Amino acid sequence: GEIGLAGEVEFRNVSFKYPDASEYILHNISFTAHKGETVAFIGSTGSGKSTLINLIPRFYDATEGEVLVDGVNVKNYTQEALHNKLGYVSQKAILFSGTVSSNVAYGDIGENSKNETAIRKAVEIAQGTEFIEKMEGQYEGSIAQGGTNLSGGQKQRLSIARAIYKNPEIYLFDDSFSALDYRTDRVLRSLIKKEIKEATKLIVAQRIGTIKDADRIIVLDEGKIAGIGTHDEL
Ligand code: ATP
Repeated sequence: GEIGLAGEVEFRNVSFKYPDASEYILHNISFTAHKGETVAFIGSTGSGKSTLINLIPRFYDATEGEVLVDGVNVKNYTQEALHNKLGYVSQKAILFSGTVSSNVAYGDIGENSKNETAIRKAVEIAQGTEFIEKMEGQYEGSIAQGGTNLSGGQKQRLSIARAIYKNPEIYLFDDSFSALDYRTDRVLRSLIKKEIKEATKLIVAQRIGTIKDADRIIVLDEGKIAGIGTHDEL
């Protein structure tokens, strides 16, 4: 990939209210996540963590202020260019009817362009190898629409594998580890740290353990930054 800026996310005095709403959900948010950093967001339910993350892929646009990726306002990217930089993992895993492989390599055009080695590697980092190898058909095994034949934690691991397979400059994990048991969560986090060094990671978390070793933790309270620091500082 590129060197230098690639992977930087900056919020500059961002305030946000949902279209047609009167109340602001985010108030004057400013921070920078530098290339390769892990920045975590915590705060009580409804404090605005998901809303903040969602401004980066432009699910919504900032009402005031600027959201910048690599120094450029997200509004000035083509949708494709912006999305190519981002690996977004939502709160609720989204799976499609198809094979395990096609779900991980989702977005790659055509069967021939799927990189089987990269699929296995992504699944391995996402802690999915064991359950997939137990499935009938394994990587060519079927996933039902919505992943109804999988557990919540298995679905999350496949969604995470999909983001890893994409090899983005910036990962956006919106509470993506919530359905994982403690051990899987811990192993997955250490593998992400070890194997995905270059990329910037923004992580919304409920469990403090998930973000213990983040470079920076941003505490949100009613849409305002109530604190920034490391786990030990806060
Ligand atoms: P949680 O930890 O429960 O996921 P959160 O910190 O991620 O919470 P958000 O999901 O960002 O919080 O919600 C912040 C506020 O925005 C809440 O008051 C919520 O009701 C409101 N909100 C979220 N999505 C929408 C929407 N699409 N339209 C209007 N209001 C919304």
